Amino acid sequence: MIDEKVINEFSQIVGARGLLNENLDLFTYSYDASFLPLLPAAKPDLVLKPQSTQEVAAIMKLAHKYRIPVVARGLGTGRTGGSVPAEGGLVLCLDEMNQILELDDQNLMLTVEPGVKTQDIYQFCAERGLFYPPDPSSLKQSTIGGNIAENAGGPRAVKYGVTGDYVMGLEVVLADGSVLQTGGKMIKNVTGYDLTRLFVGSEGTLGIITRAILRLIPMPKIRRTAQALFDSLDGACAAVSRSIKSGAIPAAAELMDQISIEAVAKFRNIELDPRVKAGVIFEFDGDSEAGLDAQIGEAERLCAECGSVQFRIAKTKEEEDELWSLRRGMSSAIAALAANRIAEDISVPRAALPEIVKRLREIAARYGLQLAVFGHAGDGNLHPSLLADLNAPGEKEKVEQAVGEIFQAALAVGGTLSGEHGIGLTKKDYLADALGETGMAAIRSIKKALDPAGILNPGKIF
Ligand SMILES: Cc1cc2nc3c(=O)[nH]c(=O)nc-3n(C[C@H](O)[C@H](O)[C@H](O)COP(=O)(O)OP(=O)(O)OC[C@H]3O[C@@H](n4cnc5c(N)ncnc54)[C@H](O)[C@@H]3O)c2cc1C
Repeated sequence: MIDEKVINEFSQIVGARGLLNENLDLFTYSYDASFLPLLPAAKPDLVLKPQSTQEVAAIMKLAHKYRIPVVARGLGTGRTGGSVPAEGGLVLCLDEMNQILELDDQNLMLTVEPGVKTQDIYQFCAERGLFYPPDPSSLKQSTIGGNIAENAGGPRAVKYGVTGDYVMGLEVVLADGSVLQTGGKMIKNVTGYDLTRLFVGSEGTLGIITRAILRLIPMPKIRRTAQALFDSLDGACAAVSRSIKSGAIPAAAELMDQISIEAVAKFRNIELDPRVKAGVIFEFDGDSEAGLDAQIGEAERLCAECGSVQFRIAKTKEEEDELWSLRRGMSSAIAALAANRIAEDISVPRAALPEIVKRLREIAARYGLQLAVFGHAGDGNLHPSLLADLNAPGEKEKVEQAVGEIFQAALAVGGTLSGEHGIGLTKKDYLADALGETGMAAIRSIKKALDPAGILNPGKIF
């Protein structure tokens, strides 16, 4: 509980407009989009909506003085409980700091506040012939601050990389309210430690991001989408790897297993060739028709060699949208198959995709659970989805054990616990398995140095 006198002090910083403490508001800020509906009671004591770095700094000074937990929040689409106030305290919601501050079109840099939606950044740039490539599927609902704090990826990561690859500089309010500037608009910078990188993926545990400088590139002139259907999942994985190796690097290569494709076909009333066991949606982009034709031609040839039973290139914008809508509708289609869908986010070396899928299927079979696998084949980031009824007796325990084994399997094939959703609350029990004791000690020291009182997003990651 935060003392009434202290609440008044916060109110003087943000005004009545920026302070929420009605029960319904507190409930609204108590959860995110993580899958397990099993997180501990998490109601915040207070929600604050600052509008400037100065307000964030003043809030942090006060929170530091009274040792109040502070949980940064964008739009709460995180999948691992990162913005859930596990220990109560303050939710610092940054969605009202949502201005695009500057486009520097000499240096191709964009300066933004943390609450700008990713889609708005993409759109703003696209209208000016510029490209901000990171494209989490949640881009219409998530903020750039949340993307940076989770180092969000997306389908285009295979060719263009993830959010962190575009973050050149940050303004961060530290736990004690001091304001740190990192990086800048220069491309090369080895002045001291790379503090920008330190805050990318730090999940609100090291500081509050209040401003970011993002690198842009010119927008590719043409894009083309194709769907390849295969008679085996191994064939689909091999086609993606061989395409990349050949130089026909797709901007996206999204893998779907048989259950995922059947779920979408059922949902959309589409008749499916019975030979189909897996599919890949490819996107290619470039600046010349001839170059793009050559890339797609090469991908089609390699897919045929790897057992494709169909390769369909979208001819119109409508066909392109239809192919992508199959991929975007996949989560909902799979979710409709069972009472609960528990989707994970593991990342493995691309060549290990067939082996990890084999292991995932063995785990699901051992626990008698249905499993759908889809994800970003081009970069080895999969979202295995367990289908279950968590209210059925013993099902929750089975799912928890199966999830634990999924993480161990990812580590065993040289992969890791998360490609893009972070650790948050839901994966912290497994972190030491991935980082080892020395790795854990190193990140604990960093946390202690930047947040000695442990007020920033307590209970997360560690
Ligand atoms: C349907 C759906 C599809 C998704 N698809 C993808 C995908 O393709 N790729 C992907 O990577 N993720 C995906 N996600 C997950 C999620 O959208 C991302 O993690 C996103 O980056 C979270 O942004 P947010 O604004 O909602 O952040 P929140 O959920 O509010 O917060 C996420 C974390 O960031 C911290 N944080 C937020 N803002 C700040 C800040 N300003 N300073 C410091 N810390 C901060 C929070 O404390 C928390 O730990 C998806 C989620 C959904 C629901």
